[in-house]
Amino acid sequence: MIHTGRHFLQIPGPTNVPDRVLRAIDSPVLDHRGPEFAKLGMDVLENIRPIFQTTGSVIIYPASGSGAWESAIVNTLSSGDRVLMFETGHFSLLWRQVAERFDLKVEYVPGNWRGGAVASEVEARLGSDRQHTFKAVMVVHNETSTGVTSQISEVRRAMNNVHHPALLMVDTISSLASTDYRHEEWEVDVTIGGSQKGLMLPPGLSFNAISEKALSANKQAKLPRSYWDWQEMLKYNQTGFFPYTPATNLLYGLREALLMLHEEGLPNVFRRHARHAEAARVAVRNWGLEIVCENPGEYSNSVTVAFMPEGHDADRLRNVILENFDMSIGAGLSKLTGKVFRIGHLGSFNDLMLAGTLSGIEMGLAVAGVPHRKGGVTAALQSLLETKTKAEPVMLGK
Ligand code: PLP
Repeated sequence: MIHTGRHFLQIPGPTNVPDRVLRAIDSPVLDHRGPEFAKLGMDVLENIRPIFQTTGSVIIYPASGSGAWESAIVNTLSSGDRVLMFETGHFSLLWRQVAERFDLKVEYVPGNWRGGAVASEVEARLGSDRQHTFKAVMVVHNETSTGVTSQISEVRRAMNNVHHPALLMVDTISSLASTDYRHEEWEVDVTIGGSQKGLMLPPGLSFNAISEKALSANKQAKLPRSYWDWQEMLKYNQTGFFPYTPATNLLYGLREALLMLHEEGLPNVFRRHARHAEAARVAVRNWGLEIVCENPGEYSNSVTVAFMPEGHDADRLRNVILENFDMSIGAGLSKLTGKVFRIGHLGSFNDLMLAGTLSGIEMGLAVAGVPHRKGGVTAALQSLLETKTKAEPVMLGK
């Protein structure tokens, strides 16, 4: 089938890259040891900090998010260290695997893939660890496979309540620049980020925002590291350079994306995402489908995940939507394969893109013969209208 117009890329990352960012990437490649690069390097290294809500260092790797997972581990821990993790879904499972490959002893708190990290569990397990054998608590902030956002401020409070010195490491790959996240205020030691979601860039960059405590741990950490070594990075970054060839053109894109986020203002970015997420949930509920996230306090701003009715395959629905309406929506991952579909509503996104996305799904449900109620889109539009007048008065002349 020939498709006309733009493809709708509504997976929860990689997300749509705005034209401004594409134009910025489409620049001549420059000498990464020359003076022009140093300006670009200094610019992005400085302006990325507020996105993590930190005044401390942020390391930028030419790597996908999984690289930044690995670097958080090898820079701060030693073989045999005990760490606490939560089974929130597919991505917590993968991060756990990385930890185990480095011979960390992972205490993995079981979960049903419908909730986030449980602060009371953190408090109980760390509270009874009088010898301070736990060296880190590692949490996926926004579990992209389930649409559940863990409450990091509560995890931090639980750690402080029992005065436990473990490091706190948080994966914000699908929440950065779409959900309020405060690296410094929540005393997070390593925050892991990626370029291809809220940051509106193509895949290929990832980040470690690091605390002073993480830097001290780095001096003692014995795991072998070379490519990921923070000290080498920090040394070169002082003058805007990198110890190896950086992804120069993605950094042009990053400079533009940061400018766009600063122009909009982070609080507005978070409000926009929250509003779209709410409207997406309204649609799902009105279709009569069940949202995977059980606790409204943990609803994700960036992705909504819905169960299929019993006996209906989500991947078939996704194929019907792709073939008929040229839209990609997210697949269920590992044990949720075929059982759920995921609606990405993050990054460069607006009301009409959400309306189009939800329309494609509602029509797809009809074409695929999946039992549902009509009217999800209409209800979502109503939600958008109501929240528009309350939260975002229309500014004429701006
Ligand atoms: N963590 C989360 C929460 C993710 O959503 C992803 C990817 O989608 C990753 C980690 C892995 O990142 P990457 O695929 O860029 O290596």
